[in-house]
Amino acid sequence: MSKSRSSEAVKVVVRCRPMNEWEKAASFQKVVSVDVKLGQVTVRNPKGAAQEHPKVFTFDSVYDWDSRQVELYDETFRPLVDSVLLGFNGTIFAYGQTGTGKTYTMEGVRNDSERRGVIPNSFEHIFTHISRSQNQQYLVRASYLEIYQEEIRDLLFKDQVRRLELKERLDTGVYVKDLSSYVTKSVTEIEHVMNVGNLNRSVGATNMNEHSSRSHAIFIITVECSELGPDGQNHIRVGKLNLVDLAGSERQSKTGVQGERLKEATKINLSLSTLGNVISALVDGRSSHVPYRDSKLTRLLQDSLGGNARTVMVANIGPASYNVEETLTTLRYSNRAKNIKNRPRVNEDPKEALLREFQEEIVRLKEQLEKRLGMRRRRQRHRLGDGGEEQEEEEEEEDEEDEEDGDESAAGDAEYWQEQQEQLERECRAIMEDHSLVAEEKLRLLGEKERKMEDLQREREAGEMLAAKIRAMESKLLVGGRNIVDHTNEQQKILEQKQQEIAEQKRREKEMQQQVETWDEETLELKETYSSLQQEVDIKTKKLKKLFAKLQAVKTEIHDVQEEHIKKRQELEQTQNKLTRELKLKQLIIENFIPMEEKDKSVHRAFFDEEDNCWKLRPIIRVEENEQMMMRPVSAVGYRRPLSQHARTAMILRPDPRYRADNILQLEQDLPTRNTRDYLGPDITSKMATMLEGVVRDEDDIEVDASGFRGSGPTPTATCGTRMPRPR
Ligand code: ADP
Ligand code: MG
Repeated sequence: MSKSRSSEAVKVVVRCRPMNEWEKAASFQKVVSVDVKLGQVTVRNPKGAAQEHPKVFTFDSVYDWDSRQVELYDETFRPLVDSVLLGFNGTIFAYGQTGTGKTYTMEGVRNDSERRGVIPNSFEHIFTHISRSQNQQYLVRASYLEIYQEEIRDLLFKDQVRRLELKERLDTGVYVKDLSSYVTKSVTEIEHVMNVGNLNRSVGATNMNEHSSRSHAIFIITVECSELGPDGQNHIRVGKLNLVDLAGSERQSKTGVQGERLKEATKINLSLSTLGNVISALVDGRSSHVPYRDSKLTRLLQDSLGGNARTVMVANIGPASYNVEETLTTLRYSNRAKNIKNRPRVNEDPKEALLREFQEEIVRLKEQLEKRLGMRRRRQRHRLGDGGEEQEEEEEEEDEEDEEDGDESAAGDAEYWQEQQEQLERECRAIMEDHSLVAEEKLRLLGEKERKMEDLQREREAGEMLAAKIRAMESKLLVGGRNIVDHTNEQQKILEQKQQEIAEQKRREKEMQQQVETWDEETLELKETYSSLQQEVDIKTKKLKKLFAKLQAVKTEIHDVQEEHIKKRQELEQTQNKLTRELKLKQLIIENFIPMEEKDKSVHRAFFDEEDNCWKLRPIIRVEENEQMMMRPVSAVGYRRPLSQHARTAMILRPDPRYRADNILQLEQDLPTRNTRDYLGPDITSKMATMLEGVVRDEDDIEVDASGFRGSGPTPTATCGTRMPRPR
């Protein structure tokens, strides 16, 4: 693959899931038909008139209910993952209404090799590729995040309450600050990472179905590869694969939603609607502004839409008649996405490559280890030097030892430590047996030897720890055929290659078929040789009919799209009206209940943070005029006001608010015990009560309508009338 900057369209494929049991039982009609060879999806309107033409959409590839996961992978996703292995960024979006198979396409059925989705298939693909590589070093890491109501949650982090922020850097673009990533050495390890994330995804949610239909999940695999270039330098390429399971695209019903829930509803699919706006802006050609910054999703995946990544979008649809509107919306949406142009580019030698950091760290640790070894050897030589004649020989050996590889040097190590220990033990025994020494002297010498023994042990441990650290780091850097069980089986490799060729062939055939179709239409007029007038009339009538049908189809499509726009517009206006009303309420409260100067102060302090796309308040510092601190300074002894010694002791002994130095209003105080009683009215006999009632009965009643007191709609208690005697 070339590193060229030529542009390339976003690849869009459609997948229609099979009818499910429920749909079959309810005998819904199938309104979708799929022509795999031509790459066309046809949708029939179940309510439309008989002569109404079905709607036809053409895509890069289409997959029907019988399509297998591996088919999709080989034809559509494998080429993308291959380019990630070469250092391109790649993104796969799964788009569509809830229940149409987005998660099935991305993840599929776990532990079922036939039905597992793109994500597990890509794991297998990546690690097999690495195991077959030569003279390359790889580092693979994974991250997993979720966007829900415009908040980013790290699905691999312990604390699931923490929310992450997007940041931007000039060289690398937009990234998620503090997002955790795990270096993985095998398929099992990366699968484990995915499982942990999936578990976390469901933990916070009360209703998993609802949650997953409203949130976007992004699994990110980063593959770094280091290779010796022709210039003799090590070059690093970094490819990033974003696997995105989008929120359900179905229209959210906003009727009857108010207050907090309204805010929620307006936020829920901000990312999804912005994605639509970004696509429109990119395709439109007229708009100079692409609203990437309007949502977290589009900001994070900016590169994948009109940027330098390769992108595949899978539009998932259902076949049944009751879904026809959503199905058409999905098809129109993805039809537009086909026209987005990207300029894929290899990321070569980026500054922040983790692989380089690892390589440098390993070199540093090895140097440390080498230094230790050097010291040891010097000591050894020194000792041997005392002994005399062996010295020369040893030095010669030493040079060879440098070349030794890990295992042998480890064996040599063990031998060395053993020798040292034995030597010390021998010396100890010699001291014990030496009768010329006095007891005191013996003890001192023995103590010395013991200390030496401990030092030796410590030194040995430190060396071993260093070596273990190096081994651990090296094991993370994957090298073909060494770290991973080598799957290389020539025949399998050939088979895969053949399959890929077939997939490529299929793709080309489809392209040709599509081209033939368009040519047919265009060249209709060119075959202008008729043998008779009648034939000419026949052919031209046929042509006319075909064109007329086409015209009708375009007309209905225009009509439908307009209807859809009107509906969408009405919904947006409704939301806008509700938000405006809420805004008015807030304004009313501010104007009437917040002192003017307080309001002005707050307005003065507020600023709009472009980065986070929200309003923030600057901290209060000083009042300009009199340079007085707004906050009360803490006194030298740490209290907010001077306290007597007695108060301080009392405060420590019992939690009496009387001696607290804080503002009394901020304290939560217990209410005093009550020593009054409620008034229950005079004790009157029942006879008296009847008499009193008799007196009031004659009076006209006053109706008081209390319905106006409760702002929200009619409730059963709101319209009752209260009877009150009229005052004289
Ligand atoms: P979504 O993630 O879009 O809400 P799911 O992936 O959860 O939808 O799919 C809904 C159901 O349909 C699941 O039970 C899934 O197994 C099934 N399903 C979806 N697509 C297919 C398919 N192509 N073949 C077989 N079953 C499918
Ligand atoms: Mg799903």
